[in-house]
Amino acid sequence: MKLRILWMYHDLMDLYGDKGNIQVLKTRAAKRGIDVTVDTCGIGESRDISAYDIFFLGGGADREQGLIFEDLIARRGGIEAAMKSGTAFLLICGGYQMFGKYYKDQDGKTVPCLDFFDYYTEATDRDHRCIGNIAIEVTMDNETFQAVGFENHGGQTKGVSTPLGRVLKGHGNEYRSPYEGFVNDQVTATYMHGPLLPKNPRIADLVLQRGLRHAGENAVLEPLDDTYETKARETMLERMGIKK
Ligand code: GLN
Repeated sequence: MKLRILWMYHDLMDLYGDKGNIQVLKTRAAKRGIDVTVDTCGIGESRDISAYDIFFLGGGADREQGLIFEDLIARRGGIEAAMKSGTAFLLICGGYQMFGKYYKDQDGKTVPCLDFFDYYTEATDRDHRCIGNIAIEVTMDNETFQAVGFENHGGQTKGVSTPLGRVLKGHGNEYRSPYEGFVNDQVTATYMHGPLLPKNPRIADLVLQRGLRHAGENAVLEPLDDTYETKARETMLERMGIKK
């Protein structure tokens, strides 16, 4: 079994350990005997995006979003082809915002985004920045479970029709929002850094499964020993007062 991962703007879009998500995808795939390759893609580099099974884009501050948006928009056709071909997308924070209509920063400057979905993001004032640990109840691919992470964003994302989860603690899409992230059959998008996947291996496996489907494999992934991952997540849920 082979799995190809594309890590977009690895040198610019990487906050609060986002690169750890790549490490987890690689490790969990390799433990199942899957032959994984990870290619990076920086500004100006040419890649056939639909040839990849998983597309990963991490978070970035306003500055980095300002640096990548033109290059990203120039790839819109390739990204659309990848969506049509069934590539799985994992998008974090600034990366999540870039798939909506636009991002309006704190100075009122609008950064155009890919406009694949109806949501859009506008920065708020300092008093309403969403910072801290976050816990959500995820519903994805007919599974419902708790996930934890860390968020730090000024952007308030509005108009999300299909959120990734319900906020148990923290903010999510907007300051004190009941909902967090965005999900559809292919795209998993979230404000959760931390990084996301080490503490939430179920999300990792669902993304891997989606990627494997694109690779033509309908394999059910064998379970791994997630004792430490579970302990880390449960410790955070306890600290947030969700689990005793
Ligand atoms: N610049 C965006 C915001 O503050 C994204 C930040 C991030 O990726 N953590 O909303």
